[in-house]
Amino acid sequence: MTEEDRKTLRKSLLDQLEQVSAKASAHETRLSSDHADEVRDVLETTSHRVESQLDAQIAESEENLIAKIGHALERMDQGNYGLCEHCGGEIPLARLQAKPSATLCVGCQEKKENGAH
Ligand SMILES: [Zn+2]
Repeated sequence: MTEEDRKTLRKSLLDQLEQVSAKASAHETRLSSDHADEVRDVLETTSHRVESQLDAQIAESEENLIAKIGHALERMDQGNYGLCEHCGGEIPLARLQAKPSATLCVGCQEKKENGAH
């Protein structure tokens, strides 16, 4: 990975972080206004509740993503960005460009997703 690649990836991470943070705070606002609706109308329908739960799930995954991006930026500062956290192998540049927050190589990511550690 060249210095130029690293800079581009850092910028992608920061852009992504900004987007996700903006979305996450939009959800928060919506969640609290949903809550106000519930208080105002205690007979609110079940579908409304389901919608709120869905929002909460989205907000949660955004929080996850924020943490992941933050972690990737930290590794960049430490100088070990682009190396797999699990096996220490190099993560292919194409993978990082597709998913700058990746800190595992494809093999380790698959193992993790399959639950085999
Ligand atoms: Zn690995």
